[in-house]
Amino acid sequence: MKNLYDENNIFAKILRSEIPCNKILENDFALAFSDINPQAPTHILVIPKNSYVSFYDFTKKAEIKEVELFWNLVNDVIEKENVHETGFRLITNSGNHGNQDVPHFHVHILGGKNLGRMVN
Ligand code: AMP
Repeated sequence: MKNLYDENNIFAKILRSEIPCNKILENDFALAFSDINPQAPTHILVIPKNSYVSFYDFTKKAEIKEVELFWNLVNDVIEKENVHETGFRLITNSGNHGNQDVPHFHVHILGGKNLGRMVN
């Protein structure tokens, strides 16, 4: 799996404010915004502010504080979107077999309806 970070990926451009996003929440280490092509009534992406290609890359390299605040923001979004009681799904696609389109680590938060079986 490629681990070289591409500074021109679309989420890097969002982080540099070169393109807009619909921001939901942020903290010192992570940003949450609406997915541009939502697959469920709630579809929000959470990304680290620092540059990591994938979950593997993030978990290998990030400081503990950064990891903690990243997952805190995921939980804050879950609460803000009110899906903590109805349920939700977290997805992080990675690499070729994971069909990752944007090579900056991100977690999809999906909810707001029954999402069906996990993999088709
Ligand atoms: P993945 O296949 O996990 O890499 O998913 C990338 C996600 O990024 C897709 O769900 C896209 O709809 C979403 N996406 C792509 N460009 C943007 C953008 N400019 N703003 C918000 N979401 C985006």
